[in-house]
Amino acid sequence: MKNASPNAPKNKLEQQIIGLKKDPVRYSIVPKDLAGHVFQITLEVAQPDPAGQCLSLPAWIPGSYMVRDFARNIICISATCHGKQVVLNKIDKHSWQAAACSAALTITYEVYAWDLSVRTAHLDQSHGFFNGTSVFLQVVGQEMSPHVVDIQRPAEPACKSWRVATSLPELKARRYGFGTYRAENYDALIDHPVEMGDFALASFEAHGVSHDFVVSGRVPNIDLDRIIADVKAICESQIAFFEPGSKRAPMQRYVFMTMVVGDGYGGLEHRASTALICNRNDLPVKHQAEMNDGYRSFLGLCSHEYFHTWNVKRIKPAAFAHYDLSRENYTSLLWLFEGFTSYYDDLMLVRSGTIDEAAYFKLLAKTINGVLRGSGRTKQSVAESSFDAWTKYYRQDENSPNAIVSYYTKGSLVALALDLTLRAETAGKKSLDDVMRALWQQYGRDFYQKALTGQQQGLAENEIVALITEATGVNTKRFMDKYVRGTEDLPLTKLLAGFGMVLSDERKTTKVALGVRVSKDGADCKLANVYEGCAAHQAGLSAGDILIAINGLRVTAADAADGLANALARYTVGEAVQVHAFRRDELLTLSATLQADDMPAYNLKLAEKSKAAFVALRPSLLAFKKIRKA
Ligand SMILES: [Zn+2]
Repeated sequence: MKNASPNAPKNKLEQQIIGLKKDPVRYSIVPKDLAGHVFQITLEVAQPDPAGQCLSLPAWIPGSYMVRDFARNIICISATCHGKQVVLNKIDKHSWQAAACSAALTITYEVYAWDLSVRTAHLDQSHGFFNGTSVFLQVVGQEMSPHVVDIQRPAEPACKSWRVATSLPELKARRYGFGTYRAENYDALIDHPVEMGDFALASFEAHGVSHDFVVSGRVPNIDLDRIIADVKAICESQIAFFEPGSKRAPMQRYVFMTMVVGDGYGGLEHRASTALICNRNDLPVKHQAEMNDGYRSFLGLCSHEYFHTWNVKRIKPAAFAHYDLSRENYTSLLWLFEGFTSYYDDLMLVRSGTIDEAAYFKLLAKTINGVLRGSGRTKQSVAESSFDAWTKYYRQDENSPNAIVSYYTKGSLVALALDLTLRAETAGKKSLDDVMRALWQQYGRDFYQKALTGQQQGLAENEIVALITEATGVNTKRFMDKYVRGTEDLPLTKLLAGFGMVLSDERKTTKVALGVRVSKDGADCKLANVYEGCAAHQAGLSAGDILIAINGLRVTAADAADGLANALARYTVGEAVQVHAFRRDELLTLSATLQADDMPAYNLKLAEKSKAAFVALRPSLLAFKKIRKA
């Protein structure tokens, strides 16, 4: 398809769209006011509902499980038919109904786009970015029709050199050009975000599929060649992971779109692209070959979002097979869709040879320590955390460490423990890889083909145990009861020992602590979290309190930077200190008995004498390196 003329219809869908006298649903979007951050959208509905066409904007974006009410950013909206104004009644916070009309209906509206995140839309003089969920009204009843969108260049002369990056297929546009793009239905339309501007671009092929890597924002001396070499290795490992025989990728092309900022981190997965946000300093500089934590975590992010191309964009929980975009969609399986993706993201870095085993073990230990840090893990299971993502994980507050567990991090440890269990019980013949491939074959591979006829299916809430048994012969019901639906800590020390690895707790019991996490608040030091049962909790301190002094010595923002290490260095475990703090501007004087720092500090390494046992895990870690070289 690489050499095809952009204007020649190539497939059935394009012929179908071009064959129609008028596109059934057609949008045009223009960056109307860069300084004011406004997109103008015109929507033409060729055959509106004779009873009065309903229109609505999604309340949330798939992949980010929180109701965000994107329609709040619609500034003004109007409708016309035959050039005459049509009454548009607002039905609820994100829906409208036009008065009945006998001919094509045109809706014109403006969207305020000033949220620099991967979830919404952003526009200024430097670039534009949007997700369809923020800008394209859903034409109720015509969601399955082909949708056409004309992406227009801003009128400003400075935007003459702007290009477009999106995985939306071109209809009448050159690759990277402004013009007309198409989507087979509304679900597809909102699953291909669009970036426009003077971005940096590099391309590569992974197992025959064209991949674009787009970087927006200024990054002096960025080493794009190094990035695409590393990302290509990760992509090829993942393609070969799911399709070891054919090495066929599930998409026709793929676009990584990265927004670079001073301080930010995140990504959102789509069926053929991902939108990423990262720190400028995380991206490598030309001629500096070392691997630092920032770049490693950026590659982990790329790996994570790419793995979602299979796990959640095609293998889906049944609750996501047909999204209801107007409200929360509940599933207790995010520990599998986000947690397993979090397990494989770093594992794919080591399998692709991007990082070494020692670095991988460090990342694992970091996750283990993070999960064991909060007492919330003893109260909420990862299944409950998944179900309540909408109101708890996505809406965290100062008490979250005491109340919830992350389905990402604990979910990734569930994956590790499950992987080791399956390997141990089958003498290395089966692993979690077999489970992922079974999920792929059963649910993922033909998801979008089935979706065209409304026959797509997702994984039912209680189906995973049977699927694992079928794929590996191992019954994991007890495992799931304890660690997924229950709140028990995963038996990682024991499981890892079986593979020649030592997980040892290296916390120093002589180090003293208040049992808090502190943060900078202007020139002050604020208690961000107070861990349940700790010295600060027992003394009567609360999250939000401004720490003023310990034993009469001032505490400032500088102490927030080192986590009070300096302020507490001269004391011993069991010693009582006087603490002064402000709450609602009122001075509190409290006494705290310092405790031993009980934050877990696990370290993971290979046991000296048992490297033979580790062989059981090692071939799988390196298996895909071999496939890649073959
Ligand atoms: Zn994710």
